[in-house]
Amino acid sequence: MRDIVPPPAPIVRNQYAEIRELFNRYVVPSYGRFELALSRGQGSYVWDVGGRRYLDLGSGIAVCSLGHSHPAITAALVDQSSRLVHISNLYYHEPQGRLAERIVRHMGPGKVFFSNSGAEANEGLYKLARKFGHEEGRYEVLTAHNSFHGRTLAGIAATGQAKVKQGFEPAVPGFRQVPYNDLQAMRDAISPATAGILIEGIQGEGGITPATPEYLRGLRQLCDEKRILLMIDAVQCGHFRSGRYQSFQRILGDTPEGLGAFLPDAVSMAKSLGGGFPIGGFWVRDEAHGVKLCDVLGPGTHATTYGGTPLGCAVALAVFDVIEEEELEKHVLELGDWMHGQLERISQQYPRVVKSVRGMGFMMGMELQPREQIPGMLRSDKPASSQFVSRLQEAGVLVIPSGLQVIRLLPPLNLSRAQADEGILAIERVVRDFADGPG
Ligand SMILES: *Cc1c(COP(=O)(O)O)cnc(C)c1O
Repeated sequence: MRDIVPPPAPIVRNQYAEIRELFNRYVVPSYGRFELALSRGQGSYVWDVGGRRYLDLGSGIAVCSLGHSHPAITAALVDQSSRLVHISNLYYHEPQGRLAERIVRHMGPGKVFFSNSGAEANEGLYKLARKFGHEEGRYEVLTAHNSFHGRTLAGIAATGQAKVKQGFEPAVPGFRQVPYNDLQAMRDAISPATAGILIEGIQGEGGITPATPEYLRGLRQLCDEKRILLMIDAVQCGHFRSGRYQSFQRILGDTPEGLGAFLPDAVSMAKSLGGGFPIGGFWVRDEAHGVKLCDVLGPGTHATTYGGTPLGCAVALAVFDVIEEEELEKHVLELGDWMHGQLERISQQYPRVVKSVRGMGFMMGMELQPREQIPGMLRSDKPASSQFVSRLQEAGVLVIPSGLQVIRLLPPLNLSRAQADEGILAIERVVRDFADGPG
């Protein structure tokens, strides 16, 4: 990526303060934001309104899979928007059919429904499970502790974190949580009302925890035995982020037995799918449990105005094209392994700061020690993760906190080796500073 000379910092106006004031006055304060206003991006870099450059190792939030301002995305936007942006789902159009075909080709026999976001994609899964179980009076969906499934009412009922539920009671009925990666707990939780199980292949918001191969295989067996849908929320861990198209393909593919015939019954997606353009969806398996599962949601059962617009689908197709042409799947696998190795090395060198390193491919988590145990963190009572993220921002690198103690790296799939180096170097410096004591 060619370096662009940043414009000089503004002298007269403080644009950050001005933007911040607009938010104070006019934007619902539901987000905790960092003290940073960004104005443009190019490749793996973004610039703030003062002209300062940052390496974006978060891809926004696991969204900008090809980095920022990728020419293929711009071309798809320009080209498709000059022909047809929206035409509603009362009609057929080629981009939606082609994108569904592309997803099925990567996933396995089945069909796809398109939505606009991850929460909405998951909403479709809950409806699929309820429709599937309806005649037998089954409706319940079991999910995992520490999971995250989105902020709609059903999404927070499905999510296994108390902080997203608080204040919004009563919860939508039909959801229960059990410990993640605990097959026996899932087996014990199944009731006559259970219609589906929904887990993340790699828990994202919960702190970057991959499912174990035994858990995935065990859940498949359990679901077959009990006629329950096995559904995977791949909103964050999907779309090549793990180094394979789907994280379950990576997790099981890395074992001696391999992926075999493993296939979930349904998979939700969003985030990286549109490379920054809002689009989500879910794939549903062709046949499962003796029914034509992909046709369970028949005409009139599910819909959304913006789902699968020509524009969104054209962009998602362009993202697929670039990933395939530039062999980014292999790139993420290899560079991801290298970065993991580096983070491991840092973790072993500075055990006073870093507790463990988790994840796979371009979905990496670094678990920090509790704040009170890190010499350089004692002066502030902010959680370890936010102190680390802020310090790294000062060093020109953006990463994302995950809970109180984990920082996440979710870089663009086309991050270069030199940029990976730059990020690792900055992380190592910040870790060393925190290890050295009061800053
Ligand atoms: C981000 C996320 C969601 C919610 O997606 P939105 O597009 O924000 O609605 C759901 N599940 C997982 C695993 C996510 O990471």
